[in-house]
Amino acid sequence: MKMTTNCINCGAPLDPTLKQCHYCGSKYFTQNETIPWNYFLKSRKIRTHAIYPLLLLIGVCLVIFIYGITFDHFSETTLIQITPLWFFPIVFGTFGFTAEKMLHYVVAGEAPTIGEAYKKWIKTFVSKHLFIGLLVSILLFPFSFFKNNYPLLIAFLGSAIWGILLLIFFNGIFPSL
Ligand SMILES: [Zn+2]
Repeated sequence: MKMTTNCINCGAPLDPTLKQCHYCGSKYFTQNETIPWNYFLKSRKIRTHAIYPLLLLIGVCLVIFIYGITFDHFSETTLIQITPLWFFPIVFGTFGFTAEKMLHYVVAGEAPTIGEAYKKWIKTFVSKHLFIGLLVSILLFPFSFFKNNYPLLIAFLGSAIWGILLLIFFNGIFPSL
């Protein structure tokens, strides 16, 4: 693998005196070290150019397929039960792109973590666009709790949190409505 001059995870300039990134904690590898097979997941380029767009595309295609084409073939219960199929990839992609945006602020020195960067950003956003801002802050609420700087992990945790909330809603609250 070609050595880059920037951190593969967050894009910050690489500090040759350190063993890991000052901003996100990603480990640096020298030319003699073996790079683990899953290291490609640390690559911001792969995340923003492949993983998130692909998941968003899958989610949108599933929505079109389920509600546009096969709608009549499913019962209401089935339609509800298969919600996580499209919901999970869409939330994952959205959280991923948001985490990358926040990571930019971390590298710019505006906040120590993605979570702190989010709190700053959402405050400004809500003050500018109250209604949309509040909706976005509800969707992205788990961001306030993230203390790591790994967007892929954040995207996974965010969609897992929403997935669990969805399950609780559909299994516990919805049937009694
Ligand atoms: Zn980094």
